[in-house]
Amino acid sequence: MTIIEDQQAKYLIKSLQHHPSPYLIFCKDGGVEWMNQSAQYVFDTSAIDDIAIAPIISHGTSKKIEAIGSSFQSDLELSLREIKFLLRSRVHEIPLDKEESFFLIEVLAQSEAALEALKNTISCLENDRIDMAYQKQYDLASGDLVSVETLLRLRDEKGDIIPNDKLIPLVEGESLFSLVVLASMQKLKEVFAFKKERKLDFTVYLNVSAYTAMQENFCKIILDFVEENDLKSGDLGLEITETAELEDRSRAADYFEKLKSHGIPLALDDFGAGYSSLSYLRDLPISLVKLDKDFSRTVSEQDTQELVKFVVSICKNMELDMLAEGIETIEQQETFLKLGCNNGQGYYHHRPQFLEEFKEEF
Ligand code: C2E
Ligand code: MG
Ligand code: MG
Repeated sequence: MTIIEDQQAKYLIKSLQHHPSPYLIFCKDGGVEWMNQSAQYVFDTSAIDDIAIAPIISHGTSKKIEAIGSSFQSDLELSLREIKFLLRSRVHEIPLDKEESFFLIEVLAQSEAALEALKNTISCLENDRIDMAYQKQYDLASGDLVSVETLLRLRDEKGDIIPNDKLIPLVEGESLFSLVVLASMQKLKEVFAFKKERKLDFTVYLNVSAYTAMQENFCKIILDFVEENDLKSGDLGLEITETAELEDRSRAADYFEKLKSHGIPLALDDFGAGYSSLSYLRDLPISLVKLDKDFSRTVSEQDTQELVKFVVSICKNMELDMLAEGIETIEQQETFLKLGCNNGQGYYHHRPQFLEEFKEEF
């Protein structure tokens, strides 16, 4: 008899079939036996064997199974068709009788939007709907190109772009997101090949969230990429976002020092907004400070101007480059120049473009 034929399990299945959270039943002898509708939707499964879970080590239960069962939180290793990733879940070990039990797995997600983002990310990875757009960063006085920021562009099934702000914050803490980072780095190879072929001199910045940067193998992945693509010092740079998640700053500083010593500069993104605090300038080997877009929006106001001047003086004293993001008008550009901020980026000068279009400008 399989688990799902058991009378007790049948009740459970019935109650969870339409539950908004994804649930799966995993049997101790291996294999997924059942998924609720939400799990089928998120993983887009038509067959139960699309999905496999690495054996679960239960922490709670001893040989004798308690009647009330037990539960624990765990990162399960999941194989979904061709991709493998860790999945944050709560595992409930449910007794059937004195000898037998099974695992009910509840996929942990903060919200319905987070589940939707998970589903979209899986779908983009499996269907290669991951691309990059390129936006120029320039010297405000001369208009010369100094660097380029790469921006993720994920598409839904209809081919429409999924806004980054709606997806990235919801999935970047998941191990699945590192697969997106790897896929986006594959795309970057083309821009480096173009740069080399045309002997162009600018830094290509990749956005990395603190979650990604703090992963064990991050440094190695970046350094291998530099080697494989024969990149020179200053070819690749990193923009770090969501620094609130940089729990271990000294470890982060070690990673970025190492990368810097290999010619990979670090930019602090969205400075002055959210969690991007002053102390990062002291603790991390930052080369470039990117002032958050919000400063451009309000740069005609006296208070904002005072704040910009304050950051300009810090950057001067610490010998850091500074760049204003989100410049949309000539007035904003001129104000930043007047305040002493020499670099900028924004729709006024250049809108993010896909590679083919971007190449045509050289
Ligand atoms: P960000 O790194 O601060 O990127 C700047 C965002 O501002 C981009 O939005 C860009 O298209 C937009 N932008 C550029 N110029 C202007 C302007 O003049 N006005 C306005 N209103 N917006 C402008 P996008 O591409 O939607 O990206 C949003 C955020 O998503 C990024 O903010 C970054 O935090 C994250 N992101 C983008 N690509 C990646 C990536 O490859 N990896 C990771 N981890 N995060 C990424
Ligand atoms: Mg950025
Ligand atoms: Mg930014």
